[in-house]
Amino acid sequence: AATKAPGDPLVLPPNTSSEHFRNFIERAREITGSENVFVVEREDQLVDGNYMEPNKTHDMHHLFDRSYFASSATVAPRNVPEVQAMMRLCNEFDIPVWPFSIGRNTGYGGAAPRVPGSIGLNLGKNMNRVLEVNTDGAYALVEPGVTYYDMHQYLEKNNLREKVWLDVPDLGGGSIIGNAVERGVGYSPYGDHWMMHCGLEVVLPNGELIRTGMGAMPDRTAGHRDGLRPDEQPGNRAWQLFNYGFGPYNDGIFTQSSLGIVVKMGIWLMPNPGGYQAYMITFPRDEDLHQVIEIIRPLRVQMVLQNVPTLRSLSMDAAVHHPKSYYTDSDAALTDAQLDKIAKDLDLGRWNFYGALYGPEPIRNVLWSVIKESFSKIPGAKFYFPEDRPEENSILRTRAQTLQGIPTYDELRWIDWLPNGAHLFFSPISKITGDDAVLQYQITRKRCEEAGLEAICDFVVGMREMHHIVCIVFNREDPESKRRALWLIRTLIDDCAKYGWGEYRTHLAVMDQIANTYNFNDNAQMKLNEQIKNSLDPKGILAPGKNGIWPQSYHKDSWVL
Ligand code: ADP
Repeated sequence: AATKAPGDPLVLPPNTSSEHFRNFIERAREITGSENVFVVEREDQLVDGNYMEPNKTHDMHHLFDRSYFASSATVAPRNVPEVQAMMRLCNEFDIPVWPFSIGRNTGYGGAAPRVPGSIGLNLGKNMNRVLEVNTDGAYALVEPGVTYYDMHQYLEKNNLREKVWLDVPDLGGGSIIGNAVERGVGYSPYGDHWMMHCGLEVVLPNGELIRTGMGAMPDRTAGHRDGLRPDEQPGNRAWQLFNYGFGPYNDGIFTQSSLGIVVKMGIWLMPNPGGYQAYMITFPRDEDLHQVIEIIRPLRVQMVLQNVPTLRSLSMDAAVHHPKSYYTDSDAALTDAQLDKIAKDLDLGRWNFYGALYGPEPIRNVLWSVIKESFSKIPGAKFYFPEDRPEENSILRTRAQTLQGIPTYDELRWIDWLPNGAHLFFSPISKITGDDAVLQYQITRKRCEEAGLEAICDFVVGMREMHHIVCIVFNREDPESKRRALWLIRTLIDDCAKYGWGEYRTHLAVMDQIANTYNFNDNAQMKLNEQIKNSLDPKGILAPGKNGIWPQSYHKDSWVL
């Protein structure tokens, strides 16, 4: 950086001279128009922003220096051929590129690339059309820039919510494609977003364009015709209806991956169930966790619990209500006595369970009676509907929106637990058993206490397992707080690996560490992943290092963090 030439970015891509970079940027401008190219030249251009105004250049929740995970420039293609042209250009110039759809990716790295100085390929800025909503087939076809909020507005504006509902995650600002390809989750019966995707259009690292599943088959009855650009050809009529097509099923390799850029994706929508009721059940004692989980398992596996319900530690709901300084002057994590008092004050349990019933009233009544009877075995369990809770500041009222596919922006309030609040997620998978949940919770709490950070825990119950989401909140302007957060997640990853618990997704900073825990049979899966990577992307230009997969062109040992 001492010899920074005019026009140089703050962080050059690896092994790239100033002149080479300038030539690259000139060519990128020819492809996308200069209004769609932004070079990060100075530190003061790295503005963290906030959830509503996220930056596109680095991780707002920086664990290292702000400029460590930063791109050299962002480029926003206007259409699929420009994405293809950018991939060819990056190959020609040997410059790494990191695609993102919206770049919020909160808690996992934001828009930041794994390799400092990569080009951030901003797909969402210009490619943001809802291409189709089909109510008979109950699906949508979208481009990368379509957020949950956009789709919700589209359904509202066109009076389509009477017919179909969208599944949304905690916050509405993310990309439908970005979330599904990272295998993110929501909370309605359609909460497993990747399970509910159907059909992809993907630009490969060499610039080639493919469609997966039934999309691989041209369909003249759908309007497919000679002379139209491939990306503009209407899709096969069953593209969004049947996932597998013929031959090996390719879609999975484009999730959490560095093998392609998803430019179109089908997503199933839930037919309007014809009735809905959200509820909360509170459990008074920390020790109730074991029994609660044992009750949840059979109900969820049988789908008496129809949606992806969540069991939240009191600390999470407390943090949505107030910052830590409201409850205590101490720097330490809250004690059990303090948590018991807060539970009383907020009229919540030490564990709080959020779910919903879907269907006409008779169906809901039957399900509710089974659910109520099951959880009533726990002494002190209390049952609430949204109208039983205060109008202001009610988490149940927010969840009642989320669980019927109406996106909100309220949930991230727990980020203000500490001043200059930033966060990262630690998210191990757990079996749905009392023993597993209690042990994970105890390990988490113990390590959080050692780090002086709060254990903010959320068990998100999938069809056969739980995503245990631990929100690690730290002060991003305090180096000591950042150091402790990094120590905490690194220690938890190792602790959990000893029990065979692995994370479902992670922040850039610990991708290598987690990849290394999935090492059955001498890292056989990583060897396969590297083989595929090297064959589809011989120069290693697409998202090198993502999820711990390093191309042959990188000296892995010197990159691993
Ligand atoms: P969010 O939807 O939360 O804003 P991002 O758009 O930042 O999330 O996407 C999160 C991550 O998912 C990115 O860092 C990238 O690795 C991957 N990703 C997002 N969109 C695409 C895409 N269209 N093709 C391939 N990978 C993508």
